[in-house]
Amino acid sequence: MKKNKIVLFTILLIFILILSSCTTTTTVSEDIMPNDRLIVTYLDVGQADSILIQEPSGKTMMIDAGNNNDAEYVIDYLNKLQINRIDYLIGTHPHEDHIGSMDKVIDNFDIGTIYMPKKISNTKTFEDVLKSIKNKNLKVTAPVPGNVFSLGKAKCTILSPISDEYSNTNNYSITVKVEYGKTSFLFTGDAEKEPEQEMIKMWGNDLKADVLKVGHHGSSSSSTDEFLEKVNPSLAVISVGKDNDYNHPHEETLEKLNRLNIPVLRTDELGNIIITSDGNNIYKEDNSEINIMSNEDIEKKDLSSIVIQNIDKDNEIVILKNNESVDIDLSNWVMVSASSKDTQSFTLPKGTIIKSNSTLTLASGKATGDVKLTTSNIWNNSKSDPGELYNEVNELISRWDD
Ligand SMILES: [Zn+2]
Repeated sequence: MKKNKIVLFTILLIFILILSSCTTTTTVSEDIMPNDRLIVTYLDVGQADSILIQEPSGKTMMIDAGNNNDAEYVIDYLNKLQINRIDYLIGTHPHEDHIGSMDKVIDNFDIGTIYMPKKISNTKTFEDVLKSIKNKNLKVTAPVPGNVFSLGKAKCTILSPISDEYSNTNNYSITVKVEYGKTSFLFTGDAEKEPEQEMIKMWGNDLKADVLKVGHHGSSSSSTDEFLEKVNPSLAVISVGKDNDYNHPHEETLEKLNRLNIPVLRTDELGNIIITSDGNNIYKEDNSEINIMSNEDIEKKDLSSIVIQNIDKDNEIVILKNNESVDIDLSNWVMVSASSKDTQSFTLPKGTIIKSNSTLTLASGKATGDVKLTTSNIWNNSKSDPGELYNEVNELISRWDD
């Protein structure tokens, strides 16, 4: 008898394990027809967030629902599109500018899954949302990083919150990545530096997305250089109110995006912002294509970020330029005087760093510079002595011909 029970229990356990693995690894079909566009609308709800995602089969997701006084606008917008069901409703975190009208959305539409972080608030706004959820016999699903669900042919992955507790409510923000074919969108709510760091650690290059909803309305408390560089978006969208009390978006954030050559669209300037994807490319509302960078382009960009800016052959000085906004380690990189007569290679010492957007000088002969290659003259002043810079794995990074 005892043995039978153990066998039965084991079978049950295996069954549960299979079932749970099925729910977290939903496969997403790749066959997207050319006219099947995913439509992402960043609604102009002033100093707040509300994003509507429509998948071509009719599936819908709403991320945040604006302030309390945006209810009429949000509901009208959904009605005009003849949407009567929200398959996934995400309240990124319990601040009024994100869940303000969520109660009214729940009251007025058929709702599928509701995601909210495990963070309670004692505001009336929050209680109203809970009341609406209860009235409709719905329940709240807590976000688990790594959970994947499909919105028709779009694959949605929860990336954050990663920790159980944060001192700042913004950091509980649910961050979700939506992948449609080869394109991707990242929505970060109001997540600040702490979850950004956690996400870099946990997700690394998986943070890459074509379109980034800039965290916390463009506040400087979000969007660290490292995070922006990991996401490496081709387009940034900021949801922000005109003349808001917080001075969002902060100049610092706009400067960072500008330095990284990321175009910015703002709801305070443009109203509703509609971005679509056909699975291969992304488009603005006027159907103009946004150049998305393939991984190859990114590699090329990485390789061209360090260049030999000049070689002063008379004075034996090489100037290297770092065009990136991060410091780059040049330890064991090799500078080559590629003369047809006599090729010479010089390995840069360990700890050689070129600062972001700065130059580094390599000196030889009698010259002085940041790094002294040799006391001999190496540039023979003839036309056949180009300079070549190789990285530590011997890839040619830059070549200079006079
Ligand atoms: Zn906010």
